[in-house]
Amino acid sequence: MTENTPSVLLTGGAGYIGSHTFVALAEAGYQPVILDDFSNSHPAVLERLAQLTGRRVPCEKGNVLDTAFVAEVLQRHRCVAAVHFAGVKAVGESVQQPLMYYRNNVSGLLSLLEAMAGTTACRSVVFSSSATVYGNPASVPIDEGFPCAPESPYAQSKLMCENILASLRASDPSWRTGVLRYFNPVGAHPTGLIGEDPSGIPNNLMPFVTQVAVGKRARLQVFGSDYPTPDGTGVRDYLHVSDLADGHVAAVQALLAKGESFTVNLGTGQGTSVLGVVRAFERASGRPIPFEFAPRRAGDVAQYFADVSLARGVLGWRATRGIEEMCRDSWHWQQRNPDGYRTQTSDTAMHMPAPVRNSPNGPMRPVVSA
Ligand code: NAD
Ligand code: UDP
Repeated sequence: MTENTPSVLLTGGAGYIGSHTFVALAEAGYQPVILDDFSNSHPAVLERLAQLTGRRVPCEKGNVLDTAFVAEVLQRHRCVAAVHFAGVKAVGESVQQPLMYYRNNVSGLLSLLEAMAGTTACRSVVFSSSATVYGNPASVPIDEGFPCAPESPYAQSKLMCENILASLRASDPSWRTGVLRYFNPVGAHPTGLIGEDPSGIPNNLMPFVTQVAVGKRARLQVFGSDYPTPDGTGVRDYLHVSDLADGHVAAVQALLAKGESFTVNLGTGQGTSVLGVVRAFERASGRPIPFEFAPRRAGDVAQYFADVSLARGVLGWRATRGIEEMCRDSWHWQQRNPDGYRTQTSDTAMHMPAPVRNSPNGPMRPVVSA
């Protein structure tokens, strides 16, 4: 890494997808810079990232809603692009707390864009959108031309963000925006050093299954057994988080190569049922996953998977890891870190990060030097 290594801001970079993208960008020759308020992440991730990449992990603790702070960070690190992960993401919670969702997700993006527009020449931004913008699709596979019909405040907030980016592009063509509609990210880095660390009872299938496998939960409830799918259980397009991280590298590279703006699905294009995940996980872990059938979960759709041809054409990206690898890496992460980042293992206990300076707005010095 040199003075001239291009820096890329990762808002929410300490989180699940952001941390894997940190590694992928570092491997691709960028200097990622994390901006995170740690509202849904643990500072121990910083030391894990230092171990994985063998380099310092610049981290600015603060809130993306603080535009002056974001602008100062962008300027000080001379960022050439930003990837916006920061936000809140639980569909059910968004129904209960819509204002919190619109504030964080919509105002968060506005704040980042205002910081970029006001103080820097940086006009390239990658945005974490979601397949939930499609709502309940009429058919599968889902391509980017499908109508958007979000069914929750969370999904609405993502579509609003996409529309804000479209308006900005229309107002000033120097903006280059990459909208990535993720399907179901799962898995973890193959080293087991970083992974998904949900607080409380997991809402999502894979972290719940891993907690059953490790004995933290007695059994999985399979929500619905009478869907019009091959085995009656819900089908989703699970995507390894390392493939997703590589998709972000491809997106940053495409924008910086001064290509066109784009909106693409990131998925594998393959659907797997709940029972398919259970079986794959049993094979990967060698452990039985006890389960029982339960009623359908409100708001769930029967099946959901992506048409991924546009991502392949525009980004030259495609997923390379299958469901077995996703299960294997989820299991490895869970085994190595039964309590997530709070786990003290022999190889991580010695490397806890320097304490995070507890200023509401930062800026902080880089907290970890490898
Ligand atoms: P995550 O919660 O693990 O990461 C988000 C990070 O943002 C956390 O580290 C959190 O502390 C930080 N953050 C939240 N609000 C912030 C704020 N106001 N200021 C600064 N930092 C803030 O979530 P993730 O799974 O990594 O998701 C990242 C993005 O991808 C989110 O925008 C999410 O909506 C989107 N997404 C996720 C999924 C998924 O299944 N994980 C699917 C589709 C889209
Ligand atoms: N699911 C399940 N039990 C759980 C969690 C999820 O049967 O404890 C099912 C859910 O009904 C859906 C699939 O697993 O068919 C994926 O759910 P997840 O919440 O992971 O993703 P999403 O529904 O948001 O796509």
